[in-house]
Amino acid sequence: MKTPAIVSEFREGLAQGKLLIQHCQDCDKPNMWPRYACPHCQSENLGWLQSKGEGVLHSFCVLRQGAPAGYEEDLPYAIGVVKLDEGVQLLVRLEANRPDDWSDYLCDDRVSFVAVDAAEAERRPCAQFRRSPG
Ligand SMILES: [Zn+2]
Repeated sequence: MKTPAIVSEFREGLAQGKLLIQHCQDCDKPNMWPRYACPHCQSENLGWLQSKGEGVLHSFCVLRQGAPAGYEEDLPYAIGVVKLDEGVQLLVRLEANRPDDWSDYLCDDRVSFVAVDAAEAERRPCAQFRRSPG
């Protein structure tokens, strides 16, 4: 399946170990997920900036059964909503703290972006995060 142009730079960033967020070059505000026009000023003059990759875990869920079609082989896995320090939020995968175990995670934990290799970024084009140390 061809990658939609609106997410291609985000996905290319993941494959290079970078978390990119869309950025309006007219009003200087971040947008996530990417849009065709800035939700703040309606400008179509949008680009990408590299996020610092730090944020807060708002919510998460560990899937142990009932994965969507095509994701069965990933079970178990965890997804979460992270609010980045830049002020935007996104859906992420959470790295297990021990094999198949996410019990160390709590909502409002500080979390950090984890670069994955290009093959994994291609297979699952979703940012991966882990609990920040400390
Ligand atoms: Zn704008």
